[in-house]
Amino acid sequence: MVSTSTTTQKPRVIVCGGGLVGLYTAHALSRANIDFVVLEQQSEVTAPKGAGLVLFPHVARLLDQLGLYELALKETITITDKQMLRQNGRVVLRHRMAQSIEAQHGYPALGFPRWKFIRLLYDHLPERETRIRTSARVSDIEMSDDGVRVHLEDGSVEEGTLVIGADGVYSRVRDAVNRHAQPASATEKAKEKDPSDTSPMVASFFGIYGIAPYVKGAERTVFNETHGPGMVSQFCAGEDEMIFGLYAALPKPTTLRHKYTEEELEATARRWFDVQVFPGIKFKEIWEKCDRSSVHLANAEEGFIDKWYHGRIVMLGDSVCKMTPIFGMAANKGIECGATLVNELYDLFNSGAEITTASIEKAFQRFQDSQIEDARKIEKRGRVITRLFSWHGWSYWLLDHLVVPWLNMEKITINELTEPVSKAHILDFVPFKGRTGKIPWVRQPKVQA
Ligand SMILES: Cc1cc2nc3c(=O)[nH]c(=O)nc-3n(C[C@H](O)[C@H](O)[C@H](O)COP(=O)(O)OP(=O)(O)OC[C@H]3O[C@@H](n4cnc5c(N)ncnc54)[C@H](O)[C@@H]3O)c2cc1C
Repeated sequence: MVSTSTTTQKPRVIVCGGGLVGLYTAHALSRANIDFVVLEQQSEVTAPKGAGLVLFPHVARLLDQLGLYELALKETITITDKQMLRQNGRVVLRHRMAQSIEAQHGYPALGFPRWKFIRLLYDHLPERETRIRTSARVSDIEMSDDGVRVHLEDGSVEEGTLVIGADGVYSRVRDAVNRHAQPASATEKAKEKDPSDTSPMVASFFGIYGIAPYVKGAERTVFNETHGPGMVSQFCAGEDEMIFGLYAALPKPTTLRHKYTEEELEATARRWFDVQVFPGIKFKEIWEKCDRSSVHLANAEEGFIDKWYHGRIVMLGDSVCKMTPIFGMAANKGIECGATLVNELYDLFNSGAEITTASIEKAFQRFQDSQIEDARKIEKRGRVITRLFSWHGWSYWLLDHLVVPWLNMEKITINELTEPVSKAHILDFVPFKGRTGKIPWVRQPKVQA
């Protein structure tokens, strides 16, 4: 049992996971003047790892609200156009989607080397030295009517009012929620099982992603996507670096976590050596210049959790809504969820009412209601896009190979983005005007300057 009483104390939020969703949420908590700590298992939050990330205008607007937009622009890889290639380098479609996005919504799509985005969030988080605990791996969560106790693998404990789980696809917080939500008899059995045996996240695809040095001839500002039998590649070149990913179906879907070896990485890369990832540039040329510490071979899980909270624990980001990187919407949704969740916490903690498990659950329910259907749609769409682009079966081949090149993809993409972008949430308690495009924002902060 938890012995501390937090009902009469100042609320304290424990964020598990210092990835990009955890860090954005930390900024929002800081602006809401809510006490918090972020627990991150890695020894360094900002290590230059990972690949690229494209953030859409509603997230650019959230960054602008925090005063980070102009700083973000300094870190971005400009994207103006998108083109679709065949594996022999033939361009079948090119459009100026990115430019139209800015005209529609007032902000561009921001391409980042992912670690630079994380560094931006980290560097500008007020009191970051005390707010972020690194080498802090969460192992379990205790919950009572008074608060939560988060146990770390080093034996230490963090106490607080509630937990936000932003600890990614193999979430320990999710395991804890499952245990708390189950009857005691089932909990004992569950403890004996390896959590990965029961993971709701299934990998049907895997891929290599990372950052490579710029290779001569690669056209900058164009997002290149090669579609072909069984695989898809996404490459974008900046001034001196390129962000990339290549993905293919696994022989068999799996829920098991797998760490690939160097040999598996090299062998997988060799499979795709002849694929042209920019017109006239084969993957082999890029691979030969890649520093192996900036590339990864990993499974790309997919999955969706139907309930995002239990008691005093709530989850967001990849821990509840996971898709392959191909659709490029998961981080966008996770960050927006961070804003909506903190809006609810701000209202709850400033309501003057007693903070009880019931009032916390009501706030979590409102948060979930505001996001879950959109997130579900995005996750489903991500599955279809992954299979369509990689010609996963004849019907997807037929559509992507024969039909898509004749469609007005610029218009289709812009139309698809209009609703999720224009209706996206913003921090209600931070006065802000920001930019607008042809399509007005549906939501404005409740508090105006
Ligand atoms: C190659 C690639 C490209 C992508 N491109 C895009 C894109 O263009 N647009 C988009 O919207 N999305 C994109 N995504 C998806 C996006 O990166 C994820 O949705 C996003 O990173 C999820 O953030 P998160 O904070 O929820 O999880 P994560 O980024 O996985 O962060 C979780 C954090 O929790 C920490 N952690 C885990 N377990 C524990 C524990 N027990 N205790 C303490 N800390 C723990 C981890 O170390 C990590 O720092 C891409 C993904 C990949 C792989």
